[in-house]
Amino acid sequence: MDKSEKIFVAGYRGLVGGALIRRLEEKGFNNLPKRDRVQLDFEDESAVAKFFRDEKPAIVILAAARVGGIKANNDFPVEFLLENLRIQNNIIRAAHEAGVRKLLFLGSSCIYPKLAPQPIPETALLGGPLEPTGEAYAIAKIAGIKLCQAYAREYGANFISAMATNLYGPNDNFDLETSHVLAALLRKAHEAKMRKAHELIVWGSGKPRREFLHVDDLASACLFLLEKYDSPEIINVGCGEDISIRELAELICDVVGFDGELAWDTTKPDGTPRKLLDVTRLHGLGWQATIPLREGIAQTYDWFLKNLAH
Ligand code: GDP
Repeated sequence: MDKSEKIFVAGYRGLVGGALIRRLEEKGFNNLPKRDRVQLDFEDESAVAKFFRDEKPAIVILAAARVGGIKANNDFPVEFLLENLRIQNNIIRAAHEAGVRKLLFLGSSCIYPKLAPQPIPETALLGGPLEPTGEAYAIAKIAGIKLCQAYAREYGANFISAMATNLYGPNDNFDLETSHVLAALLRKAHEAKMRKAHELIVWGSGKPRREFLHVDDLASACLFLLEKYDSPEIINVGCGEDISIRELAELICDVVGFDGELAWDTTKPDGTPRKLLDVTRLHGLGWQATIPLREGIAQTYDWFLKNLAH
């Protein structure tokens, strides 16, 4: 990719989009138009089409989405389904009509069946029923994958789709109602330490296993795929290792320096029992994650302290 090629990162204020912009700027890319939600409403079809007609980006990374943890997904299926379908339909179609050279659509590991084989190969897509807590988001993301594949098949578009495992890092959402587990536990452990509390409440049984990838690693993988991957077949992006929620909670307490007890709120759902991506395809192309979990958590905690702890 030429450093002056125009690359549009949709969703640049989010966890993923922010990391992508940081990475692109570090690498010397200098033609990165930015639009936040106020400047351009991705749910507005004609506004999106006009933006693409006017700006004509060469490359698009579709990182804009309504996202949230297990509770938000479970409580607001209508919003997760409708908003994501609108956002991705508008952007993918406008990108094609504006002659975008390449588009990268970001999905997540929740697109796979609840009881998929572990680690989950890309071929598991649509092989069984989804986990109910994340079904609306998953259906929207699956529709996005299929739309990209349809543009590839019908029009020869170079629209690729990457499925990211559970992500964390700077700019994450630390709201306890809507966040994912890692950000939630970081905040809870910090607040428990500050209050000198005796216990920290963790949702569910602690038994589910999840794989966590630092968002800077994801950004690195996305740039790698833009350079090296031109297939409409989906490709998994993960670190290749998982950990139980109990182990994660213990690790976070250790990093934060909270030494009280863990208490389990089993009225909250566990969600899918395990989500570990098979990253053989990505490793085969020559990309691997580099940020160890403990180090990534410590760096994210540092960001939290500097930006949000007050
Ligand atoms: P998921 O990967 O789609 O299930 O999304 P989450 O990251 O929200 O949740 C992962 C797992 O962590 C689930 O089993 C949750 O029940 C568990 N968990 C434990 N404590 C928390 C918490 O405080 N917030 C969230 N979001 N999940 C938690």
